[in-house]
Amino acid sequence: MKSKGLLELVRMCQRIGKRIDYVQGGGGNISVKLDSTLMAIKASGFRLSQVTKQEGYVIVDYSKIKNYYDNVDTSGGYDFEKESVDVAIKSIVWPTENVLRPSVEVGFHSVLDKYVIHSHSVYANILACSYEGKEIVQKVLSEEGINLIWIPYINPGFWLTLEIKKRISTLDEKDKEKSKILIMENHGLIISSNVYKEALEIHEKVNNLIKKRLGIKGRYPTVKLEKIDEKKYKSRTRFIYDFIASKNVTPVFFEKYSLYPDQLVYINSNLYADDSKIEINAKSKEVTYNTTYSEALAIEETLLAYFYVIEQIEKLGLTIKTMTEDSTNYIKNWESEEYRKKLIKEMTK
Ligand SMILES: [Zn+2]
Repeated sequence: MKSKGLLELVRMCQRIGKRIDYVQGGGGNISVKLDSTLMAIKASGFRLSQVTKQEGYVIVDYSKIKNYYDNVDTSGGYDFEKESVDVAIKSIVWPTENVLRPSVEVGFHSVLDKYVIHSHSVYANILACSYEGKEIVQKVLSEEGINLIWIPYINPGFWLTLEIKKRISTLDEKDKEKSKILIMENHGLIISSNVYKEALEIHEKVNNLIKKRLGIKGRYPTVKLEKIDEKKYKSRTRFIYDFIASKNVTPVFFEKYSLYPDQLVYINSNLYADDSKIEINAKSKEVTYNTTYSEALAIEETLLAYFYVIEQIEKLGLTIKTMTEDSTNYIKNWESEEYRKKLIKEMTK
């Protein structure tokens, strides 16, 4: 039973993880509930494609996490974000050496169905990051008889989980049984299902329906890095070069257009750090990464997705919806994400 669930987790992670239009770097997350108490979920800091039966995931007692969200009294004014992270860490059953952490998104995985695929699909994000997106995707899906749950932007963590839980609880009994599709504004897509095949199929279907409606054809660009030395890589991705050249992108651009949390974690934080890992040459328009291959790749994939989403929004005549200053600042002070970046560093040494 448990080993079947783990195998399913690995298969889903491999399938979604090889698509850089679906997930970039260590972003996105997949989980499988193994029984009525245990859930396997990708560990923070790993890429989905790095999940194997041996590593890259943690097993948590999700009944404890669920129980916490069922009973939490939010009238008290204390730090629920911290408290919920503590609950999640205490719920880890495997591995027992305290090195891995479940993602900050473990909360909403715990309150959803047996199989949960959460991706940062660029197609969903074109709509999740534009003012017209909600109406467009609702129309596309309703024509197919599919319900959509649209979640307004909430900082990832405690309050987002609570909102998702609330929205699920208001569904009709028959809809509660069905697979669910959620789009989180300025963030990404979630498919929740009790049927393994359905989770994957619906994820694919939703993305294809959006692509079709938006008239997106052809292949998503591939990324290319040129090695200068062990800790220096140059972007050779045509799409990135063209975007920077045509828009005259400088670091200010990324502050002006804060689209979603992973952009801030992978791109903005590295642009502004003292030991800046990303250099954008104003003259040659070239991007250089002063870091390891795997971190350079994570940033490059995030950069490509970010530029792609912006270009499509503009091409389609939609209006970019950025994150608010408050939510941007919240992510910048994110303890859990600090850890994630540290872990990536540790892993790639
Ligand atoms: Zn996410």
